[in-house]
Amino acid sequence: MVKSWSNGTLLQAVESFAARFPETVIIGPRHLAGEGLREGIVRGRQGSAGAHRVTLVQTAAELARGAMADRGLAPLSTLGREAVAARIAQKALAQGELAYFHPVAGLPGFARALARTIAEIRLARVSAEQLASAGTPTGDLATLLDLYQAELEERSLVDLPGLLALATEAIATGQHPWIGLPLARLDAHLESRAHQEFFQSLAARAPEVLETEVGPNSSPAATNSLEHLRQFLFSPNPEKLAQDDGRFEFFSAPGEGLETVEIARRIIRLAGKDIAFDQVAILLRNPDRYQPIIEDALRRAQIPAWFSRGTTRPHPSGRAFLALLLCAGERLSASRFAEYLSLGQVPEIPGAAKWVGPEDELLGALENRALESEVAEPAAESDRPTPRRWERLLVDAAVIGGKDRWERRLNGLEAEFLLQDKPLNELQNLKHFALPLIGMLDALPATAIWSVWLEQLSELARLSLRDPDPVLAVLAELAPMGDVGPVALEEVAEVLSDRLRFLRREPSAHRWGRVFVGSIDEARGREFGVVFLPGLAEGLFPQRMLEDPLLLDELREAVSADLPLRKQRVADERMLLHLAVAAARDRLVVSYPRMEVAEARPRVPSFYALELPRAVEGSLPELKAFEDRARDAAPARLNWPAPKEAAAAIDDAEYDLVAIASARNQDRPGGAHYLVDANPHVARSLRARWSRWNHKWRPADGLVTDDATALAALREHQLAARAWSPSALENFAMCPYKFALHGIYRLKPRDESEQLQQMDPRTRGALFHEIQYELFQDLQSAGLLPVNDNRLPDAWKRADTVLNKVAAKYQEKLAPAIPRVWKSEIEDLRTDLRGWLQHVARNDDEWEPVKFELAFGDPPLALDEGVSLRGRIDLVEKHVSRDAFRVTDHKTGKRPDTIPRWVGGGRSLQPLLYGLAAEQLLGSPVEAGRLLYATQRGGYTPVEIKLDDRARQFLQKLLGDIDASIAGGFLPPAPAAEACKICDYRIVCGPYEERRLGKKDRQDVRLDPLTEIRGMI
Ligand code: SF4
Repeated sequence: MVKSWSNGTLLQAVESFAARFPETVIIGPRHLAGEGLREGIVRGRQGSAGAHRVTLVQTAAELARGAMADRGLAPLSTLGREAVAARIAQKALAQGELAYFHPVAGLPGFARALARTIAEIRLARVSAEQLASAGTPTGDLATLLDLYQAELEERSLVDLPGLLALATEAIATGQHPWIGLPLARLDAHLESRAHQEFFQSLAARAPEVLETEVGPNSSPAATNSLEHLRQFLFSPNPEKLAQDDGRFEFFSAPGEGLETVEIARRIIRLAGKDIAFDQVAILLRNPDRYQPIIEDALRRAQIPAWFSRGTTRPHPSGRAFLALLLCAGERLSASRFAEYLSLGQVPEIPGAAKWVGPEDELLGALENRALESEVAEPAAESDRPTPRRWERLLVDAAVIGGKDRWERRLNGLEAEFLLQDKPLNELQNLKHFALPLIGMLDALPATAIWSVWLEQLSELARLSLRDPDPVLAVLAELAPMGDVGPVALEEVAEVLSDRLRFLRREPSAHRWGRVFVGSIDEARGREFGVVFLPGLAEGLFPQRMLEDPLLLDELREAVSADLPLRKQRVADERMLLHLAVAAARDRLVVSYPRMEVAEARPRVPSFYALELPRAVEGSLPELKAFEDRARDAAPARLNWPAPKEAAAAIDDAEYDLVAIASARNQDRPGGAHYLVDANPHVARSLRARWSRWNHKWRPADGLVTDDATALAALREHQLAARAWSPSALENFAMCPYKFALHGIYRLKPRDESEQLQQMDPRTRGALFHEIQYELFQDLQSAGLLPVNDNRLPDAWKRADTVLNKVAAKYQEKLAPAIPRVWKSEIEDLRTDLRGWLQHVARNDDEWEPVKFELAFGDPPLALDEGVSLRGRIDLVEKHVSRDAFRVTDHKTGKRPDTIPRWVGGGRSLQPLLYGLAAEQLLGSPVEAGRLLYATQRGGYTPVEIKLDDRARQFLQKLLGDIDASIAGGFLPPAPAAEACKICDYRIVCGPYEERRLGKKDRQDVRLDPLTEIRGMI
């Protein structure tokens, strides 16, 4: 046995051992362990077979292969194990076999925890009887273990503990060529009794055995700081290093992002000293957390990197596939389908069937695949064509969900397009692509055994994904589970969800020439010139070790001495720090983030971070002094993420920041001027930003211009030059920029095709207006207008019928998600409708409705007051005894706090404008225009505005003011109080417009028309 705190020493020992024999077996912890061994040792010299460099699991799989074939056993992957755990938990729950775990066994996460615990129990060779004898919780685990083992037996499956047992048996009886060869263990961790038994059996048949592992040794005195550090790490009495040679460095950065940028900067510096990229490793305690930001930093610095198997990468095809599964689970929801489309995974040509192998280590070992297979990188985001128009078409078709509805709606939209002579290509493409997929999703079984699921899901992946291979690899891992089930779609989605969100991908490129990025454990049996170890902050490394919630330590101790305890996990965590240090040959650089940036929370170095300098300096550094030294070692700032010197910049962005900072600090006007020349958008953007906060109104503020071309274009939007709706004109008083965005730029919020959860005010208004329109027509043809007390009961009855008919139409169109909520809202409408009819019968029976929903505007209706109008008048009534008309606009919202007298500060133009329009359309004078708040919420309140001379003068002045603002190119963001809060365009303007308005010149004469309008009552 050779123990050392240095991987280099272990590798040397293994190399010397292997060199003595023509053929050896070297068992390493991972398939790349021992990659630095001499070529001649591994490949063998002339006449010798060399070394079989394998992992423990690969060795076991190789040795057990024959026994598995004899017994017809298939291997079970980690994912498969979780699926079996989910299955047995469900079964035990259904059969009432759980007492202690009964309340939690159905919760998400239980199956995964159970799979882990069962694996530990089986690896420790603990029997169900041993568990049952220790009390209630372990009694439940005994039941679950029995069920698990029965499931494996019934389905002819073998998991890792079973495989190790088979391999151990095979060693005793078998004749495999590896049995009897000299055997070296290169720090392969014998983590359980099963692992130990297997290795010991193999070692017992070997003529010579060398075991090596990271651990204490009686090495000679350290010759450099790294050796000193290795020797005294966690030592109770560390000695002070006589002379620091700079091989151990530490630094801190304001956040994790800047920490990784700093690592990239140092790697570039090392490259300048002729240190090859593949001699550098970044070892991660939290790969999920650090890997994406490391990837980003290395990409920025153009450093080639090799991300090991141990890191997870979000993958769009997995996410797109999961969106489709959720689409199936949510009754073919259109929004889930749109989510799938948005991930850009739609294939150009649906894939031909091809076999893709699993990526699980155990399954992979038995598949005899090449250990370093090359898998194509997913296509770059920009290369993936997304049918952008399809999402829009789904909204237009109001698909929402359900197979019938998908077909009906898309066919309906096609018919509509045909009638309107619109191009059909995109819609037909969508139909041809989406309907077969929807058909497949609809045909997925409610429950089925895994083999049925795998067949159907594999087909779905091939048809629906541009790059289906990663998804097929995940599905292939479940192949041995074929007979298990039946399971429901939810269970399938639960088992697959984690793996589909973050697919583990084998790196595409060769390892050499690239910086290694992987978990610390993956550095076992390997040595790198330089090791970076980020994340040494409290809570990140070391991590808090918790007891297994399913089998607490107290019970573990009672059951078997072979079950791992929390204290062992703590020791394993400590060993990780040793492993990271052991992997560094020449230099170790550790770091920690000072801030949790997302939560704006400070972080402190962990005690591991302090332990490292303690091992070098012989005593624990004073915290404040340590933090200062760490900060000074990497002077990066969160609010100016760049180095001090331009030469140290990792990319253009940093270089530019350095240039700006130095131009500013050294008062060198023009020092950053190249930015403006290099990129015209920078200049534009900087000027715009400055302008928007500046006192004067400028073009960057909104629609503020004196450009002749722009003014000429605006002339086409003058009030008499094109048709305007009264509601668009009302926007001006709220905010001239809103008026421009809506009326001139014609921006509107994006429509989404979603099931209606609750009726929004707009839908409610549309529904109410349509009911009123149909009801008026019905009452008119029945001779029941005007409605009065005598006609009221009949009018109510007819209102009910119309309401039911219109509501059914809307229900089909909107597919409300919760029928009970929809029904109650319709009943509210019924009450409103009845109340309104009652109000009409009591107050308006002298006015007979003569026109309903009177549309106008094609061609635009030119008024003498200087505006061209388009719109729709809800109701025109004629007095029963006088020759007088009036118009009414029905409102379903709350009545305003201030009742308008003429134009209500420019926000209430409909009564006057509709009145004037009606006058012209009917060729008769109109007496008044009204707003009628026709619901309980509005208190059935009428707001009437007489069309007298004063009102006409006000209106004319107001329209003139708006027109002058358009003609003058001055439509700035000058919102009325609270206007931004309810404005759809906040996403365009950002959150600061009201604050910005406070800085602007309020005395500018161009604001006078707006001020005047807001003052008109
Ligand atoms: S968000 Fe505010 S400033 Fe922008 S358009 Fe709306 S009301 Fe005007």
